[in-house]
Amino acid sequence: KKMGLNEIRKEFLEFFQEKDHMILPSFSLVPKNDKSLLLINAGMAPLKPYFTGNSIPPSKRVATCQKCVRTGDIENVGKTDRHATFFEMLGNFSFGEYFKEEAIEWAWEFMTERLEVPKEDIWVTVYLNDDEAFRIWNENIKIPKEKIVRLGKEDNFWELEVGPGGPCSEIYIDRGEEYGCGDPDCKPGCECDRYVEVWNLVFSQYDKDEEGNYNPLPNPNIDTGMGLERIAAVMEGADNIFEIEVIHDLLEEVEKVSGSKYDEDEKVDESIRVITDHIRAITFLVSDGVLPSNEGRGYVLRRLIRRAARHGKLLGIHEIFLYDLSKKVIDIWKEEYIDLVDNEEKIRKVIKVEEEKFEETIDQGINILDKYIENMRNKNEKVLDGEKAFKLYDTYGFPLDLTREILEEKGLKVDVEEFNKEMEKQRERARNARHGLGKEAWGKDEIAHKLKDFKTNFKGYDTLECNSRV
Ligand code: ATP
Ligand code: MG
Ligand code: MG
Ligand code: MG
Repeated sequence: KKMGLNEIRKEFLEFFQEKDHMILPSFSLVPKNDKSLLLINAGMAPLKPYFTGNSIPPSKRVATCQKCVRTGDIENVGKTDRHATFFEMLGNFSFGEYFKEEAIEWAWEFMTERLEVPKEDIWVTVYLNDDEAFRIWNENIKIPKEKIVRLGKEDNFWELEVGPGGPCSEIYIDRGEEYGCGDPDCKPGCECDRYVEVWNLVFSQYDKDEEGNYNPLPNPNIDTGMGLERIAAVMEGADNIFEIEVIHDLLEEVEKVSGSKYDEDEKVDESIRVITDHIRAITFLVSDGVLPSNEGRGYVLRRLIRRAARHGKLLGIHEIFLYDLSKKVIDIWKEEYIDLVDNEEKIRKVIKVEEEKFEETIDQGINILDKYIENMRNKNEKVLDGEKAFKLYDTYGFPLDLTREILEEKGLKVDVEEFNKEMEKQRERARNARHGLGKEAWGKDEIAHKLKDFKTNFKGYDTLECNSRV
């Protein structure tokens, strides 16, 4: 059945509305009253207090389509077929009401009857000792035993630093041998791109505390998450999530502004996909109120903008371009996320200022890094000094992961430990400088003013801008 991103989103929410779920709009990417989480990374994250019983949900059954950002996946973006830093997650939730049986049966019904995914393409996984989930898939749904794979904690136990979690069961689609690694035993859990994980059903029955204890919840919950772009890629038979119709429009815009052609050179394609992904994340983050800074979520945004800018350079773009590209993102997603329109001006401005700032130093930084690399080659060294990486960070605005990425492309590494030591030293210097200024100096503008002459200490100001935790 041919269905795109927007049709699937609608179909999903309607389906669960028919099953008596209350449909809530996506929450902001910025968590509310949750110090344990930098950015919303799953549909369940903003609903945590309903799972733990700290708040009363508006309904015991809820379904959402939630904006998510996963910084942890940043290095996969452009490389795997299935990872984005920004994506939408569809989810149905039960707060202490229905449990495994309903969650599994409805997921199956939605996949096979609404989306009409061929039953023979579907594989599932369960947590190692979860015989109950195994039985439901096997006996109620009639999935043959060979297609139910038991996996360990890594894959089939969902948890955050703190909060609700539990064993899970995942639904995979077999895209066919041509995507596989060739291993005759290849099945879900394999690193290759043959089986795509599309939906995770979490049987949320513990509340993990700060000490790492798993406290059983009085009523077990259901928390599911399906990647909208992934299921759309399956439905459209697209090779990867950036080639589905709706996102392809954005990808084409990236081709246009960069004057490069997709699908001719793997390296170029990777850069195009990185920019396509990052500009979505950037636009939505700014719209939700995040500003570039040197800490916390502001630093996530800064890293995304700078990484995208550098991939722009790889494609031969000489001017700043991201702020303008955000318009396309707004155009494509404005119907679902009306805030984007209200925030359009702010989005452009914030991105532009950050791009301009980096534009001043990026070419110089790249030249210097090239010289370092040449030097390393001559001396047959494999690891860049942390001190040099810190200089790139401090003077040329190169986030560590950007330096690392460039080095990795050449088979080289960076001394992260030494870099961190340099960073710590600088923080120390900034602390001392602030101390000397006395209490009355803590107003932002004053501190900026007083520290203006101290190049290194100036970072202290940026740090004050954002009080979120990493
Ligand atoms: P993977 O193993 O492929 O990295 P995951 O197990 O980390 O995925 P979950 O935490 O189970 O993913 O999230 C629920 C669903 O969200 C996944 O089944 C997938 O469809 C989607 N998803 C997760 N990470 C991403 C991502 N980086 N980009 C797009 N979709 C994602
Ligand atoms: Mg993952
Ligand atoms: Mg997984
Ligand atoms: Mg998963």
